[in-house]
This record gives sequence, C-alpha cells and structure tokens, in this order.
Amino acid sequence: MVEYGSVDVPFAEQLLSVRRGAALKEDSLLDADVIIVGAGLAGLTAAHELTSRGRRVALVDQENAANLGGQAFWSFGGIFLVDSPEQRRMGVKDSLDLAWHDWLGSAQFDREPDEDSWAVRWARAYVEFAAGEKRSWLTGHGLSFLPTVGWAERGDLRADGHGNSVPRFHITWGTGTGVVEPFVRYARQAAAGGLLTFHHRHRVDELIVTDGTAVGVRGKVLAADDSGRGFPSNREETADFELTAQAVILTTGGIGADHDLVRRYWPERLGSAPKHMVTGVPAYVDGRMLEISERAGARLVNRDRMWHYTEGLHNWDPIWPGHGIRILPGPSSMWFDALGRRLPAPYLPGYDTLGTLRHLRTTPDIAEYDHSWFVLTQKIIEKEFALSGSEQNPDITAKDRKAFLRERVLGKGAPGPVDAFLQNGADFVVAHGLSVLVEKMNALTDKPLLDADVLRRQIEARDRQVANPYSKDAQVQGIRNSRRYLGDRLGRTATPHRLLDPAAGPLIGVKLHVLTRKSLGGIQTDLESRVLGADGAVIPGLYAAGELAGFGGGGVHGYNALEGTFLGGCLFSGRAAGRAAARSTAG
Ligand SMILES: Cc1cc2nc3c(=O)[nH]c(=O)nc-3n(C[C@H](O)[C@H](O)[C@H](O)COP(=O)(O)OP(=O)(O)OC[C@H]3O[C@@H](n4cnc5c(N)ncnc54)[C@H](O)[C@@H]3O)c2cc1C
Repeated sequence: MVEYGSVDVPFAEQLLSVRRGAALKEDSLLDADVIIVGAGLAGLTAAHELTSRGRRVALVDQENAANLGGQAFWSFGGIFLVDSPEQRRMGVKDSLDLAWHDWLGSAQFDREPDEDSWAVRWARAYVEFAAGEKRSWLTGHGLSFLPTVGWAERGDLRADGHGNSVPRFHITWGTGTGVVEPFVRYARQAAAGGLLTFHHRHRVDELIVTDGTAVGVRGKVLAADDSGRGFPSNREETADFELTAQAVILTTGGIGADHDLVRRYWPERLGSAPKHMVTGVPAYVDGRMLEISERAGARLVNRDRMWHYTEGLHNWDPIWPGHGIRILPGPSSMWFDALGRRLPAPYLPGYDTLGTLRHLRTTPDIAEYDHSWFVLTQKIIEKEFALSGSEQNPDITAKDRKAFLRERVLGKGAPGPVDAFLQNGADFVVAHGLSVLVEKMNALTDKPLLDADVLRRQIEARDRQVANPYSKDAQVQGIRNSRRYLGDRLGRTATPHRLLDPAAGPLIGVKLHVLTRKSLGGIQTDLESRVLGADGAVIPGLYAAGELAGFGGGGVHGYNALEGTFLGGCLFSGRAAGRAAARSTAG
C-alpha cells in the first residue's frame, strides 16, 4: 500500500504507472489479491469466502475497528426463511411456491428487460436460497433462531398483492450481533494468520480502472478516532492512499443517513418527501460510493426504490445523529393521520410499509404534515410493542432465554426498553382519559390539529366491534386472524379489548415519524455479483454486494420487501461476490 501526503504525488504517480504495467502479472507488487471496500456484513461475508480459499484480502473501511460489522450489528437480526423447522413447529405451512408468489406480489417488477433484468433472477435465486440451503448454512456458522417466528409485512389484503401470507421473520439469538459475530471472528482470525489486512479509517474516493479492468482504489486516510461504535467520527484527512489488487469488491451500504440523497431520489409515487425524518442508520451509511462507482463505469439502477418506515421515534438516548428507532408494531394500535382520521385498511400496523407511507404522503390535506399517530392502551404496549435494533432487545442480544421468557411471554409490564421510551421518549404521552390524552398529543405539534370528539367517535365505533369473535372492522378481523397463529397469540397480540375500557390501563398516544432505512436499488450486478457497466457488459475485476447492489442485481426486492430479507441479501450477495472473486483470482 502507498500512503503519501499531497507533496509526494509525483512519486505516487510514478509508482502507479509501474503498477499499471505490472499489476495484472506481478502479484507480489499488489497489496492483496482482492480489495473489499466496506466492512459491514456483505464485506465480511465476501472476506470469509476469499480467505477460506487462501486469497489475500485488504479490507478497507472509513470507520474504526469498533465499527466492524456495520449496520448489521445494530439490526434486529430478523432473517427471512421459508418452510423452516421453526415455522413447522408453530403450525405454519410454507413452501417455495407460496414464498415465490409472495415475493413477486411484493416486488411488482415492471422494468424488464432493463433495470429489473438481473434483479428478477436474483429474486428467484434468493427465494430458493431462503427455502433451501440458507438455514443450514447459517446454523453451520453457529447462528440459531428464536422458537417463535414473527409475521412482518402482512400485506395489502390481496392474495396476489404485497405481503407475507405466513410468518417468516426468524429472529436470531444475539439479534444483529449474533449475525455478524462469526464473520467478524473469521476476519480477525484471517488477519492473525496474515491473509487479511484491515485498513480502518481509509475512505475510498475513487476506483482505479485500467484498460477497462478494476485494479485498485484511491482515497484519504482519515485521522484516528476512538469514538464508540455507531457514533459519528471525524472526517479530517491526513494522507492520500492507494491500494491495488486483482479484483475489487464494493460493499459500502445504502444512503439512509444522507437525507438530501434520500430526497433527491424520492419517487413521485410516494408523494413529497417529509421535511423532517428520523435516521435509522449510522452516519457512515452515506451513499457516496454509488456515484464513485458510476464515475468508474458502473450502472446504477432502481435508485427511486427505497424502504423507509412510518413508525419511527426519536431515540431518547441517541447514538448517531438524528437517531430514530422503529416500532415493530403488533396489530392492535389504532393509527390516525395528523388530522386525527383513522387510516383506512390496509394501512394497519404491521401490514404494508410503503402503502402506508404513500397514503400519508399523497393524501392532499395531510401531506404537509410529517407525522401520524398511534393510540393504544397499556395492555397493548405491554404485549405488542417491540423496538427494532440490537441495543433495544438486550435479552435476545445477550441470548438470555430466561430473560426473554420472563420479559415477553410470562411477565407483566412492557419490556424494559419499551418502558424506557414510555418514560423518556419525546413522542409518547399517557393519560387516563381521552380528552386529556388528546390535549397532550396536541401539545406535541405546532398547532392543535386533533379534536378529542372526532377521535372518540372513531374509537367508540371500533370498540363496538370487539364484542363478538367476528367483526366488520378490517383491523379487528386482523387481530382475530393474528391470534389464530400461535406465535402471535403467545407473544405479539393482545387479547381484543375496548380501547376506552379503563381496565386496559391508561391510554397512550405515540407520535410517529418517517424513519429512513434501506436503499432497494443500486449497482446492477449479475448472479456472480460482477458489476455491469452502462452497456450491460461485465466490468472485469469489479464486484458489488449488499445494500450497495440493491441486495443483489441492483434491486432484488423490486418495490417492496417482505422483511428479514436485507441481512440475508447481504450474506447471499456477499457470498456470491467472494466466491466469484476467488475463482477469478485463482493461481
Ligand atoms: C437498526 C437496524 C435494524 C435492522 N434490522 C434488520 C433486520 O432485522 N433484518 C434485516 O434483514 N435487515 C435489517 N436491517 C438492515 C441491514 O442491517 C442492512 O441492510 C445491512 O446490514 C447492510 O449491510 P452492508 O454490508 O450492505 O452495508 P453496511 O452495514 O452499511 O456497511 C458498509 C460499510 O462500508 C463503509 N463505507 C461506506 N463508504 C465507504 C467508503 N467510501 N470508503 C470506505 N468505507 C466505506 C461504512 O463505513 C460501513 O462500515 C437493519 C438495519 C438497522 C440499522
């Protein structure tokens, strides 16, 4: 590796010209067999595939060693699996065929043959992976899953539309920390064995492409920074650097921390982007690599496809700037828009993330407001609220099965982190009567937009629907449906009750914000994670995986995700990149 201050550029140029001539022939002059940019889950997975095949890897990341694992460390560790033993034990009948139809109904691919041409192939390969080898491959790396399977994205109420027909969200013991742990361990072992070199605090600003082939990267060495994991770090540049290798794998993640980028690519079909959003990812998820790779010839596709949540909260104890936490809601909270009107079906808690976002952003008289509301009872929050993120689920993160049972199945009261939000969160209000609750909700907005009588009429109408085991109200039907699934009845769906029944505990109002999270589009790649250029041809030596590549192919999800598919997409596409780069760099 060359590191040089700006005064030494001529020397660097000289050395580079020597390398240009020799790079592909003289391996000893190269810094590694393969450079991986991005030490998140996709990069670490690729690194493991390479080092386990004896390849020398340079692992480059702009953050410090404390951040190994990237976003995945912070994740809930939810993994999409199809027809698993966990599902079968819960009485769920799933199959590759059902999952594939759900995927197609959600993805709604409509850009073939063009931006979706590789995405569709990736989708099929990924669903087959999820229904086949994925679970045994993960358990082979030491991962294990909670016995109950979650039911995320229940969908838009159409059999052939968006959504999971059955529960498929398998939470990893250890949450995201449990997912990244083996891959971090492998990287450290490879470093100790001399096969992998960490280049922390190295920010890549340019890809080196010689005669159409990717041969290295250039960038800035950033000043040392001992900030803890997830905290923003300094951007002080101390030197230039360059690295050369036979191949380069890009795994730098999405765009969620850069709200300007999110707004620039916000699609018209989702109305206008909110003025205020909370941020669901650390600051290093900055999306810069997309344009850097485009300048090097990579084709970017489906940039208007994104996955942002409508149930975001301001974190009362933030780690990264604008830190937002997503509620993973059960089905019973009532959802109101900024003017206090109940959201229509299918825009119910836990059903249709982007449909709800579209409703909130395109309905003319509410689109100017950036928030919506949940109204619920103490009884609902205790049973149904979960918060996404490893740090919000200490029992599962610590793999503490007893604490999990105590807190979530047998215990009284909300889980500790949920209760902490109830006590300290700026978006929560609690009251024993609806009038006082609405007063408190109105105090959280610039103008008092809610009328207690309007809310009361809607809540009373809903409450009349819970007296029978059947109902004409779509949400109440959904609650009953949910309780027919053992996993939800045990831990995720409160017994149907009247919201205005004082026995259900105080009423709770929660102000919800749009939370930026995932990019669904990105660099277009073929099934070996090889980067394609504007003409559709492979750029030799260049690979991309993880969120940067739309989790495979430039957009494996199409327009909508079934959830738990992002970590798996990083593992699957990172694995493909590592294997293909290992083949291409074989002796
Ligand atoms: C709170 C939270 C909960 C989540 N829960 C789930 C879940 O339950 N299930 C699920 O499937 N998904 C979940 N996700 C999504 C999932 O974690 C991410 O999509 C995935 O981890 C992205 O991994 P990646 O390797 O592609 O990129 P990242 O993890 O973003 O890693 C990219 C790395 O590249 C580095 N980098 C960027 N640019 C440069 C540059 N120019 N030079 C050098 N280095 C650079 C960054 O510093 C970073 O370390 C969650 C995410 C979050 C934040």
